[in-house]
Amino acid sequence: MDLDLDASRVIVTAGAAGIGRAIVEGFLAAGARVATCDIDDAALATLPDGVFARRVDVADAGALTGFVADAAEAMGGLDCLVNNAGIAGPTARVEDVALDQWNATLAICLTSHFVASAAAVPLLRSSENPSIVNISSLAGRLGFALRSPYAAAKWGVVGLTKSLAIELGGDSIRVNAVLPGIVSGDRQRRVLEARAQARGASFAEIEAEAFSHSAIREYVTPQQIANQVLYLASPLGRTISGQAISVCGGTDRLG
Ligand code: NAD
Repeated sequence: MDLDLDASRVIVTAGAAGIGRAIVEGFLAAGARVATCDIDDAALATLPDGVFARRVDVADAGALTGFVADAAEAMGGLDCLVNNAGIAGPTARVEDVALDQWNATLAICLTSHFVASAAAVPLLRSSENPSIVNISSLAGRLGFALRSPYAAAKWGVVGLTKSLAIELGGDSIRVNAVLPGIVSGDRQRRVLEARAQARGASFAEIEAEAFSHSAIREYVTPQQIANQVLYLASPLGRTISGQAISVCGGTDRLG
């Protein structure tokens, strides 16, 4: 299948590690030009040559807006924005969540997607295949006990996605969300460990419980998330917009 992405210019937020890194590497392998930002200097330094990389905290709206403009200028335009940034947020009962924790989770998981999209849309209007792909979560389709700030933000990402898809359809800008399930890597291990601690259970018990609601009982890989993102960004996805696509092994409950 030819993704026809070799002339694409792509921005991926928080792309130095994890799922974002797999998305960056997927686009590079498809021949695209790629820009990313992150707060992890050591991970940024390991990105392949040719990636436009900058240290930016996506919670800093001014810095994020400037990064989008500078990255697009360096690449000669913009065809796809991937809003990947997101943090797990606190694992706690709602009465134990501090307002600062709530605000920080929404700033990174949701507001950054709005800020980068607002900066990108005028640039995307000059593209022949413009799209935005937002990384939500299965928590953006299902309730998630002990992770209410994260789930609220991720449902917000889906609402933003569907709204922008309608708003920008007249400009042929497609906007979709990808909802990863239980993805292999450090982040998921930390999330399950925190959940085990909050519930007074073992890691193995919490892991088994998570997979008990999954049709295909295995971890999703970051590369499988990247494959979905690349497809949506490619001309093959030209008639797909406003969709929230789960890549989750058929999971119908969380926690
Ligand atoms: P991760 O925790 O591995 O972090 C990925 C990158 O984000 C890191 O390089 C980190 O330095 C960077 N980052 C963190 N805060 C940042 C900030 N304020 N500004 C800029 N960069 C920042 O995350 P991940 O597991 O790769 O998740 C990527 C996306 O996928 C997130 O939106 C996450 O919510 C979503 N997601 C992940 C899973 C999973 O199981 N890992 C499941 C569902 C959804």
